[in-house]
Amino acid sequence: MQVSEYPSVLTVLIREILPVMKFGEVVCSGDAPESCVVCLYDFEVGEEIRRLTNCKNIFHRSCLDRWMDHDQKTCPLCRTPFVPDEMQDEFNQRLWVASGITDFYSEYGTVSGL
Ligand SMILES: [Zn+2]
Ligand SMILES: [Zn+2]
Repeated sequence: MQVSEYPSVLTVLIREILPVMKFGEVVCSGDAPESCVVCLYDFEVGEEIRRLTNCKNIFHRSCLDRWMDHDQKTCPLCRTPFVPDEMQDEFNQRLWVASGITDFYSEYGTVSGL
C-alpha cells in the first residue's frame, strides 16, 4: 500500500463538489440529523459541515475529510457514492484534467525554504 502525503486527485475533486456549509445556516426541512455518524457528536450551530450532493446526508467537515483520507468514495451512513451518476461524466473529465496537475503539486511540494 502506498502512503502519500498528498490527498489523491480524486479526493481533492470530491471535496470540491461537496459543498461546505455551516450548521444552522442550512435550511432544514425538519428531518435533519442532530449528530454526525462518524464521531457521534451533535452538530453545533456554526460548525462547518459537508452535505453530500447525492444523498443529502450531512457530516462534520473534518469527519468527512478524514473518512475520505481512508480512500472512501461513499457516504459513511448510507453508502451512496459521493459523485452522483449525472455528474460522473463531468467528474471524470475534471479528474482527467486535474491528473496532469498533480505532478506540478508534487514537484512544488519538494521545494523547501519558502
Ligand atoms: Zn463528526
Ligand atoms: Zn448518505
